[in-house]
Amino acid sequence: MSKENKKGLIDRLNSGPVICAEGFLFEIEKRGYMSSGEFVPMVSLEHPEALENLHRDFQHAGSDIVQAFTYNGHREKMRVIGKEELLEPLNRAALKIAKKVATSPLVGEENLMAGNISNSNIWNQNDKKAQLEVEKMFREMVTWAVEEGADILIGETFYYAEEAYTALKVMKETGLPSVITIAPYGQNIMRDEVSILDTCKELEQRGGDVVGMNCHRGINTMMPYLKEIRKALKCHVAGLPITYRTTENHPTFFNLPDNNGCFCHSPHETTFPTALDPMQCNRYEIGQFAKEAYSLGINYLGVCCGANPMLIREVAEAVGLTVPASKYREKMDNHYMFGKNKRIPEHIKDYRTSLGVWDT
Ligand SMILES: [Zn+2]
Repeated sequence: MSKENKKGLIDRLNSGPVICAEGFLFEIEKRGYMSSGEFVPMVSLEHPEALENLHRDFQHAGSDIVQAFTYNGHREKMRVIGKEELLEPLNRAALKIAKKVATSPLVGEENLMAGNISNSNIWNQNDKKAQLEVEKMFREMVTWAVEEGADILIGETFYYAEEAYTALKVMKETGLPSVITIAPYGQNIMRDEVSILDTCKELEQRGGDVVGMNCHRGINTMMPYLKEIRKALKCHVAGLPITYRTTENHPTFFNLPDNNGCFCHSPHETTFPTALDPMQCNRYEIGQFAKEAYSLGINYLGVCCGANPMLIREVAEAVGLTVPASKYREKMDNHYMFGKNKRIPEHIKDYRTSLGVWDT
């Protein structure tokens, strides 16, 4: 199907849910192709096959959007690691891989390829020079994304309202549909003291096609804001939480305590980013989040850090979709101990109640 005939993001959102897998950073690190802490997506140059595989796995699990993995692949971060000369090759390689996957769907229509910009971590509300530097970084990445055939642009994980506005301005210059999501820290307000809701309202006013939240917050601490945002905005809304059990006292994953019997604590000050595993939500919690969000009218759904293909499938199925990976959804009836299949011997099923203890 030619690009002209491909159904656009807004048409897709108008007719139902659109699933977007994020969380590439953590997942690629877990798969062994990225240094934690440094977190630079060199994978598109050094192990393109590993990145393509992850995109394919997410596509198989139901992601409608193939988001180019250029998170942290911006000029400033490349300067930090002393590899600025690889900035453009890295971006173009990531975009080409995403395009390749998006244009070869497993079933049905082509996916949408998304160019991606994100929090620069050098934004300074009192420094015009830093702001112009960030704007330049956004513009070069967006230009490469357009040249490599992006269908949409995603600006994500912004914790300064003004930085998000700047990202949106740059994305809108291209004429492509723009998704913009914010990720406030635990103060529950943007760093430049604009409320979460007001930031989203402003993003809609400035022409954001899809506005919402991603990353930093788990389902419990993102949902209350998503409800407010959905009520206040007319445009499509996005919700892509992390997959860790954040709480009112610890609304983001940056300082989550491990109260789960940990006997070998993280060598770092916090469980973030390398020892979050015990706080991972199960698939049913993620599914319930997606179902509730969709019932509220939030059609752009996904999962950010902590995402894996199983959780993306859960999101897709929770909103009524059948995806290629649905073929392998759980079939507990055939489990050797918990199944109801009549071939399973009763004396083995007994373990269900005794849970491996012989003498009860
Ligand atoms: Zn994230």
